[in-house]
Amino acid sequence: VEELPGPVATRVIVIANQKGGVGKTTTAVNIAAALALGGLSVLLVDLDPQGNASTALGVEHRTGVRGTYEVLLQQLPIAEVVQPSPESENLRVVPATIDLAGAEIELVPLVAREQRLKKAIRKYLADHPTDYVIFDCPPSLGLLTLNALVAASEILIPIQCEYYALEGVTQLMRTISLVREELNRDLELSTVLLTMYDARTKLSSQVGEEVRAHFPDQTLVTLIPRSVRLSEAPSYGCTALTYDPMSVGSRAYVKAAVEIARRGAQIDPNDEYLPRRG
Ligand code: ADP
Ligand code: MG
Repeated sequence: VEELPGPVATRVIVIANQKGGVGKTTTAVNIAAALALGGLSVLLVDLDPQGNASTALGVEHRTGVRGTYEVLLQQLPIAEVVQPSPESENLRVVPATIDLAGAEIELVPLVAREQRLKKAIRKYLADHPTDYVIFDCPPSLGLLTLNALVAASEILIPIQCEYYALEGVTQLMRTISLVREELNRDLELSTVLLTMYDARTKLSSQVGEEVRAHFPDQTLVTLIPRSVRLSEAPSYGCTALTYDPMSVGSRAYVKAAVEIARRGAQIDPNDEYLPRRG
């Protein structure tokens, strides 16, 4: 991976789409690894009780390991639960254990229940300078995803190139505007990534065109193709970048990360006082 330009301020990106199986986790871990291999410091927070991102990044997440659950429910500092990933010395992970499944309900009666992640991230960033924070979300719009939407400055939506691809996105866009109005006016939909693209099918290119028409500025030029290597890598406890760096899937994610890093080097998404360029 070439050396990537760092952002002006920490970019906090939530990978969201309430639909399951669209490539959220695959995107989160491969983009995180690519940015880290490009020399940038990255923190990935796993917010899915399944812990697939933790697995893919080679980080322990059996019951008893402290992670996102303890940060949200017991207000443990992120610095105390964060683990290094074997992918890169620049990559750190807050793991998710199955305990997190209960957090959706346990958070409900708590004060400022949707602000907990934001507070934890702020505290962490104050003494751990980090270029990118990436949240991998569960496939729902519950309190875990809401915490991520409140803590983030940007959203990246992975869209799988299949029928009804945009249907779930409409609901997500409604949630995003509610969050912007009530909880986090800095939240921007900065990036849309087309995943599992199959160049042989007309459907993929039709969906791709439709998504680009909808999100002309946000959709990355890079498409993520279907690639067996991307789906095999997690069972080896690593990302495709480590498992098979030259595979089409790995190269596509590196290109996507380069695009993300270059776009973000031009604006400061955290500075609300600067007029936005472009
Ligand atoms: P989500 O986190 O949105 O549920 P995942 O990233 O876990 O989605 O992807 C769902 C499944 O599809 C996983 O088994 C994953 O390995 C596989 N997958 C994801 N992206 C690709 C791709 N580009 N090519 C082939 N398989 C993929
Ligand atoms: Mg996932």
